Amino acid sequence: MDNVSNKYRIIDLSLPIESANQEFILPKIKFINHKKGANLLGLAGVISERSTLKTFFNLLLYFLGIKKVNCKDFPDKIALAWEEIQINTHTGTHLDAPWHFGPYCEGRPSKTIDQIPLEWCYADGVVLDMRYKQPKQPIAVEDLEMACRKINYSIKPRDIVLIMTGVDKFCKERKYLFKYPAINTEALLWLLDKGVKVIGTDAWGFDRPFKDMLKDYLKSKDKKYLWPNHLVGRGREYCHIEKLANLDKIPTPYGFKVACFPINIKNASAGWARVVAIVEGELLTK
Ligand SMILES: [Zn+2]
Repeated sequence: MDNVSNKYRIIDLSLPIESANQEFILPKIKFINHKKGANLLGLAGVISERSTLKTFFNLLLYFLGIKKVNCKDFPDKIALAWEEIQINTHTGTHLDAPWHFGPYCEGRPSKTIDQIPLEWCYADGVVLDMRYKQPKQPIAVEDLEMACRKINYSIKPRDIVLIMTGVDKFCKERKYLFKYPAINTEALLWLLDKGVKVIGTDAWGFDRPFKDMLKDYLKSKDKKYLWPNHLVGRGREYCHIEKLANLDKIPTPYGFKVACFPINIKNASAGWARVVAIVEGELLTK
């Protein structure tokens, strides 16, 4: 169940990072359990000397078993657990920074993920329901206008707009990578013209699926088919969130906050985020 308090509820809009989710490049996660952790902690202790000579003697004593700390030395015979991961910055729920789109944006060097204003990442949220769209159907300006009319809402500057396609439910199936609708470039510009800085989708990508874009490009040799939405970001400064989840769990299409602070990776094109909706007050009873 979602975290419930008297004053607010937090709804998790992120996918967990796990190799069971469909990705082109799977994350590698090595789990160091509490027992293995003891041996590694013991080893780290003996090699953390400043002098090489001392480290050498410590290692010698360690391997002779004289200066060895292992799991038997810890209470309950277990020590600390941790993980080592090898992962693409675009795996799982993440924000793309302007740097991802190109080295320059609006004539200046593009912002990397550590440089984007955090004010962009905490703002009023609005969910636009596009679940009626088929995978190959573009989400156009008329669709966004209709969705806003349906919920009687006008998008305002700095809103965080969340495009709900519903395809996150298939994140463990192969089709998650290939079958989803995306907004078209006109629709993206329509949102940016309203002063929006962060737009999210619960689909694998913010542009159409790779194979559809590549197919159209190879047929026509027209560059306009290659990642058009991402490339809008060379002329217009904005971020998008990919691989959101659970947008249907937000009890209201607007009237909630979104927090989507990316992990601070120096000079990176993207950062993973635990994106959440924060629902307050009367809406808690819905
Ligand atoms: Zn990305």
